[in-house]
Amino acid sequence: AKSSGRGKVKFFNNTMRKKLKNHADIENDLQHGIEHNDFELYYQPIFTIQDAQVVGFEALVRWHHPSKGFVSPNDFIPVAEDTGQIINLDLHLLELAAKQIAKWASEGKAFGKITVNVSSRHFASLDFVAQIHALYSKYKLPLGSLCLEITESGLIGNLELATKIIKGLEPLEVKLCLDDFGTGYSALGYLHQLPIHILKIDKSFIDHLNKAHNPLVDAILSLAQSLKLDVVAEGIETEKQLAILKQTQCKFGQGFLKAKPMPASEAEKIITQGL
Ligand code: C2E
Ligand code: CA
Ligand code: CA
Ligand code: CA
Repeated sequence: AKSSGRGKVKFFNNTMRKKLKNHADIENDLQHGIEHNDFELYYQPIFTIQDAQVVGFEALVRWHHPSKGFVSPNDFIPVAEDTGQIINLDLHLLELAAKQIAKWASEGKAFGKITVNVSSRHFASLDFVAQIHALYSKYKLPLGSLCLEITESGLIGNLELATKIIKGLEPLEVKLCLDDFGTGYSALGYLHQLPIHILKIDKSFIDHLNKAHNPLVDAILSLAQSLKLDVVAEGIETEKQLAILKQTQCKFGQGFLKAKPMPASEAEKIITQGL
């Protein structure tokens, strides 16, 4: 028992060491990746629940690492958050999204809104407002073409500043979406004070949708309705989940059932042909 105990400790230490090394590797490689344009945005359609009309796309980052190959955002976004590199990475990805929006707009493509995930760290300084305004002028982005998605927990500490920032983006008609709603530190207490526009119901709630009335989803939907917020259900994987959502007030959805995140070239086909 003693030796197996030691074995466990040793194994644990090796795993930890490997994790730490990966962490350091990723930190070093992130900057290199930005400079060498190794990040690509994939686009996942967001559609109307009732009739599957595409209303926009969520941009999701993909890292083509020079030696490790594909690295999942779940492995490097948290590291970038820890090291603070997320600020630069987000700005780089916002620029990629802006280029894509400008290209599609110039081609007359009706892409709807492009939703970009950003860290709540940006909501701690008014610099972010200036950066988004600069992006709009540089790429001559159409009003209302961009939506920003943020997880709710990050806004709690800076309610006043977050409000100022969101208001500062209003002239550009940039919409704000709270991601993963219902998980983590729930926003109920201050939700009505934040000038956000959209709630995204976390996939974990959609996973459990197997009967017409689900008390949690119903509660989120009626909350959204009373605050006049649009709702997107994320992670719709089955016809059954979609059928249940059709019986609710939830207007928009996203998930593998209709489409996975895809390169811009494939998203273009969806824009012209629909889902
Ligand atoms: P998220 O923002 O909650 O994004 C949704 C994740 O669920 C994406 O994973 C998407 O590919 C996946 N997904 C969508 N529909 C389904 C479905 O029907 N079933 C299942 N099983 N999964 C589905 P992905 O692309 O691996 O991204 C993971 C997370 O990494 C994102 O979660 C987000 O928090 C973060 N992330 C991704 N791209 C970016 C980015 O450009 N910037 C930032 N700051 N974070 C990002
Ligand atoms: Ca998201
Ligand atoms: Ca989400
Ligand atoms: Ca989620």
